[in-house]
Amino acid sequence: MRRTRALGGIAIAAASIMALTACGGGSGPGEEVPPPADDVTLEGSPTFDAMQARGGVIVGVKDDQPGLGYLDAATGERTGFDVDIARWIAAELGFSEEQITYEAIASANREQAIVNGQIDYYVGTYSITDSRKEQIDFAGPYFITGQGLLVRQDSAIESDADLTSDVTVCSATGSTPIQNIRDNYDADTVEFDTYSLCVEALRNNQADAVTTDAAILIGYAAAYPDELQVVGEPFSVEEYGVGLPKGDDVLRGFINDLFENGGDTWQAIYDANLGASGTVVEQPAVDRY
Ligand code: GLU
Repeated sequence: MRRTRALGGIAIAAASIMALTACGGGSGPGEEVPPPADDVTLEGSPTFDAMQARGGVIVGVKDDQPGLGYLDAATGERTGFDVDIARWIAAELGFSEEQITYEAIASANREQAIVNGQIDYYVGTYSITDSRKEQIDFAGPYFITGQGLLVRQDSAIESDADLTSDVTVCSATGSTPIQNIRDNYDADTVEFDTYSLCVEALRNNQADAVTTDAAILIGYAAAYPDELQVVGEPFSVEEYGVGLPKGDDVLRGFINDLFENGGDTWQAIYDANLGASGTVVEQPAVDRY
């Protein structure tokens, strides 16, 4: 089921250019994550058994979404709220940063990567939906945002009401936002594997708007402040979950416990990556469906 009700102010007001520079102040990526736990046992989790046998964790992430999941090609450093959530889970499972292998996986390929056992879990702006739950499970939600619009500074588009048939909107293949546009709007769509390719299409006038979660768009707007802007109110609710192999209820329960009992760590991760605007964003309650 896709929900298209308005989200109000939740999470979106974090629209600060500062968000991207929040990692300053002397702390390196992941420093707010606790050290690896000792002697972890997860009786009955096949995913954890595989991690232990391998001696490491394979995590699916995004690598082109500043503030959320980003790889600095020059330094090799990964940063972002989602990446730190992934690090936190790995640490609580007993694994150090050196034991984490990151795999960048595009929106359209996430379920398959989990079903195939290519990754142990996925943390990357991954909305919990009923149709995805047919193939995989989700821990969380650990964050809530909503679909927004990124346009050029000189654009006439002010909100989703302007997504009429003469407008071309770009989004990622296999994402909830592109489906929402197809189902509920007259605008033309163009799609790529990643949102960063959509941003290039927008900058080259091949698209009139990029649509995805506002939390993602804020990062791109901050990268091109003279050129691009986020407009309008959010027009969906996107609840981010950790993608897990279907049926691994032990691992799902473990991560949900972590979110439920680890509010201070969640807050530290939020503050380090997205919190510089000073906007108060509440950690959502987990859904033990
Ligand atoms: N949260 C939305 C989704 O899961 C859009 C962002 C993304 O594609 O990662 O489809």
